[in-house]
Amino acid sequence: MSPMNTTPKIAFEEHFSIPVFSEYAKSFTQHLPPEIRHDLVYRLEDMDAKRLEEMDAGRVEYVILSQSAPGMQAEADVALAERLASENNDFLSERIARNPKRFGGFAHLSMHDPKQAARELERAVRQLGLKGALINGHTRGRYLDEPAYDEFWACAEALDAPIYLHPANMAEIPLLLKGAPVLYGATFGWTMETGGHALRLLFAGVFDRFPGLKLLLGHMGEFLPFMRWRLDSRFLAYPHGVTLKKKPSQYFQSNIFITTSGVCSAPTLIGAIGEMGVDNVLFSIDYPYESTVDACRFIEAAPLDEATRQKICHENARQLFKL
Ligand code: ZN
Repeated sequence: MSPMNTTPKIAFEEHFSIPVFSEYAKSFTQHLPPEIRHDLVYRLEDMDAKRLEEMDAGRVEYVILSQSAPGMQAEADVALAERLASENNDFLSERIARNPKRFGGFAHLSMHDPKQAARELERAVRQLGLKGALINGHTRGRYLDEPAYDEFWACAEALDAPIYLHPANMAEIPLLLKGAPVLYGATFGWTMETGGHALRLLFAGVFDRFPGLKLLLGHMGEFLPFMRWRLDSRFLAYPHGVTLKKKPSQYFQSNIFITTSGVCSAPTLIGAIGEMGVDNVLFSIDYPYESTVDACRFIEAAPLDEATRQKICHENARQLFKL
């Protein structure tokens, strides 16, 4: 255990919002008690006062900000979605320019049209200096293993831009969960949705076609690290005509990076490091949905040797984002 908050930290599942986008998040924020929702909106829109105060207290030196889910991927009007996503990226880069030592940003993309999403990613990275993109799951029921999205993945690979696959509500509630709304969202459904989406990419051969791709998964990798052995074993038994260049488990080292966002459990962290290796596990918080204090306290107290703690808290992120 290191003394409290002495380790520098970088976090990158850290959200902000602006009023026009908050409307799209009502599908899940409406279930929050009013006083919590009020505080959440304040924290999402605040980029300076409270946010920096909490970062300082936890020695979080740098955060990569992203628009809160689901954003423009939930907008039916494609032209409007593309315009607002671009405006979001302009707004974010202007705000970052006020304090570039502490803030970076992920692009927000509408994702309706893979070609346009690739163009906007390129603009966001090359012209605005953003660090990659955060994508909120499916886009009105379309998943990113669809062959049309290869153009987008090719662009992300060429730019060496990490892509954070972030949860959103399921397009349809499966029969399994129907009638149990407590399981639809962050409690469980988002894990199933986002983990399933990542596995669709893996088994569709996206990482074989784009071996340089860097996919980031939050929430301890949506618990996929714990499935590596079983994925290999059962894929061998039931390949369903799918062929891959490597074992499924190997893509967890070559292409997948996970963050600790929203899972402050030491035994889980130790297991995830065992599965992923020490280079592919990175600290994050998921501010303001999760507590900065809890996340920092957790990572400082986790039973890690100091070299590992430094890697997870900030060194891996510096390398991944070339900071
Ligand atoms: Zn999040």
